[in-house]
Amino acid sequence: MLIESPTIANFGGNLSFVPQIVVAPKSETEIIEILKQYAGRKIRSIGRLHSWSEAPRGDDVVLDLRHINHVKTELREGRVWATIGAGCQIKRLLTELE
Ligand SMILES: Cc1cc2nc3c(=O)[nH]c(=O)nc-3n(C[C@H](O)[C@H](O)[C@H](O)COP(=O)(O)OP(=O)(O)OC[C@H]3O[C@@H](n4cnc5c(N)ncnc54)[C@H](O)[C@@H]3O)c2cc1C
Repeated sequence: MLIESPTIANFGGNLSFVPQIVVAPKSETEIIEILKQYAGRKIRSIGRLHSWSEAPRGDDVVLDLRHINHVKTELREGRVWATIGAGCQIKRLLTELE
């Protein structure tokens, strides 16, 4: 998914910016393709935009990870091991882990 020149605002509404391009990949394969496509440009990852600071601001390419939200659990040597997507919301993660 590619969105050109959108306005992005954080949760608190105190930060907004307009990057050149926003991409919201749906898989790790797509992420790799995007990184290759925009190699050499300034790429900024964003999560849920809950931070209040300037940290998420990106003026060039913004990588929106909202769709990378998998929660995979497995047993490794008798212990539960969880692998979480970078865009997973904490509330969903807690529900899945419970
Ligand atoms: C109502 C509310 C309550 C909060 N309570 C707490 C609290 O109790 N304790 C606490 O510690 N914080 C709290 N926070 C702050 C919040 O948890 C942090 O700001 C956190 O960073 C938000 O995560 P995010 O995914 O929204 O990050 P974003 O705001 O999207 O991004 C933050 C930074 O991380 C970078 N980033 C995001 N994802 C990636 C990635 N996958 N790879 C590399 N870089 C990445 C971004 O580029 C940016 O620099 C609260 C915020 C709100 C709005």
